[in-house]
Amino acid sequence: MDAPGTVSNPLRVAVVGAGPSGFYAAEALLKSGQTVRVDMIERLPAPYGLVRYGVAPDHPKLKEAILVYAVIARLPHFSLLGNVAVGRDVSVEELRAHYHGVIFACGAETDRRLGIPGEDLPGSHTATEFVAWYNGHPDYRERSFDLSAEVAAIVGQGNVAADVCRILAKSVDELKATDIAEHALDALAESRVREIHVIGRRGAAQAKFTNKELKELGELPSCDAIVDPQDMELNAESIAELEVKSNFVSVKNVEIFRALAARGPTGKPRRIIFHFLQSPVKITGTARMEQLVLARNRLEGAPLQQVARETGETDLLRCGLLFRSIGYSGVPIPGVPFDVRRGVFPTQEGRIVDGGGAVVPGLYAAGWIKRGPTGIIGTNRADSIATVKSLLADLPHLAPETKAGAEVLGPLLAARGVRVISVDDWLKIDTAEVARGQPRGKPREKFTRVAEMLQCLGAS
Ligand code: NAP
Repeated sequence: MDAPGTVSNPLRVAVVGAGPSGFYAAEALLKSGQTVRVDMIERLPAPYGLVRYGVAPDHPKLKEAILVYAVIARLPHFSLLGNVAVGRDVSVEELRAHYHGVIFACGAETDRRLGIPGEDLPGSHTATEFVAWYNGHPDYRERSFDLSAEVAAIVGQGNVAADVCRILAKSVDELKATDIAEHALDALAESRVREIHVIGRRGAAQAKFTNKELKELGELPSCDAIVDPQDMELNAESIAELEVKSNFVSVKNVEIFRALAARGPTGKPRRIIFHFLQSPVKITGTARMEQLVLARNRLEGAPLQQVARETGETDLLRCGLLFRSIGYSGVPIPGVPFDVRRGVFPTQEGRIVDGGGAVVPGLYAAGWIKRGPTGIIGTNRADSIATVKSLLADLPHLAPETKAGAEVLGPLLAARGVRVISVDDWLKIDTAEVARGQPRGKPREKFTRVAEMLQCLGAS
C-alpha cells in the first residue's frame, strides 16, 4: 500500500471548523502538491466562523476575508459538511477511523469568567453573547438584552471591548446599512444607553486595543470619548515600556489617549469613559445588577511584565448593564485532550498531545483552539500552514490504509437524520440572505435560525 498522499491512497483530512484557521488549513493542504481530499466539518449550516459571527458589522472590510475562503471552498477535492457537530452527530473516534488526519480549527467559543460575586446577575453579560447576538448567531437568537439603563460598563480593553463599545455608542442610522441582525437593530433602536465605561485593570500603556480601533472610538459622530488627564501620568516602568521599539502599538495608543484627555467632552449625546487601574471585585443588585464595585490597582513588576495589584481602595460605579470582555476560551470535545487552564487543545507544533505530553496520532489543531484567542484574522494563516507542515511531515507515520472520508461519513450522517450542508447548499443560503438584505439597503440579512436556513433549501 502506498503512503497517504498518493493517487492510489489520497490523504484524507477532516478539518473541524469553517472559520479562518480551518480555511487556511484547507488551502495549505490542497496546495501542498500531495493527492489530498479535505472535508470541512462545521457545526452550523453557514461557514466562516468568527468572520461571520464575530467581526463587527460596521467593519465590512474585515469581512472581505470571506472572499478568499469562498475561493478555497471552490477548489477541487474540497467538501463542506455543514450542520454537523463533532461530538454530537459524529464522534472523534469515527473521524479517526475515516480520515488519516483530523485538524481541529474550532476556535474559542466561550468566554473567560471574572470569578466575582454577582457575575451572573441579570444585566451582567459576556461580550461573547452580545457579539454573537448582534451578529445573528443561531445559538444566541433567543437572548435578549435589556438596554434600558443609561449607564453601561465594559470590562476589558481589547478589540472585542472596542467592538461592543461602538455598537452601544453608535446610532441606529450608523448601523442600519450593515449586516447587523435585524433583531439587534430593533433592540438598539430602543436603547437608552448614554454613558459607557470601559474598564482596564492596568494602565493606558497596557491597553490591548489596536491603534485603528482605539482611534475610531475617539472619532464617533455621536459619542465623545473621555480620558481623565490624571490617568496619563504613567509610572516609570510604563514610561520605560514605551521606549521599547517593538511596543509601538502601545506608544501610539498612549498618544491617542493623551489627545482624548486634552480634548475633553465636546457635548455629543453619548459618552465613552475610559477607566484605568481598576478591577471589578463585586457586582451588586437585587433583581438585576445595579452597581459595580471596582478595586483600585497599582502596577507591579518590571517593564512589559507589569501586573495589576489591588491597593485596598475601592470605587463604586452605578450601572445597569455590564459586558465582560476579558478574552475567549476554547470548549472541550469528547475524545480530544483539553488544557482547562488555557482553554486550548494542548499541542506541540500543531500535533495534539495528551496529559503526559505524548502525541495523539492523527490529531492536530490550528488557530485559537491551538494557541489561544490572540491575533488578527491573518495571524491564523501562518498558524494553519505550520500545523499542516507538521501533518505532512507525519505522512510516513500516519495510518497507511486508504480512508473513505465523506464517502462513508455522508451516508452515516444521513442515516442519523443529519441534513448535511454542502458548498452548493451554502451558496443557495448565501444568495437568499443577500436578496433579503437588498430592500433594507443591507449587504445581507442573515438567517438567524438553523431551521430557516434548512427551509430555504426546501429541507426541514
Ligand atoms: P484581548 O485583546 O486579550 O483583551 C482582553 C482584555 O481583558 C485586556 O484588556 C485584559 O487585560 C483584560 N482582562 C483579562 N482578564 C481580566 C480580568 N480578570 N479582569 C479584568 N480585565 C481582564 O482579547 P479580546 O478583546 O477578546 O480580543 C481577542 C483577539 O481578537 C485579540 O487578538 C484582538 O485583537 C482580536 N480582535 C481583533 C479585532 C480587529 O482586528 N478589529 C476585533 C476583535 C478582536 P490585561 O491586558 O491586563 O490582561
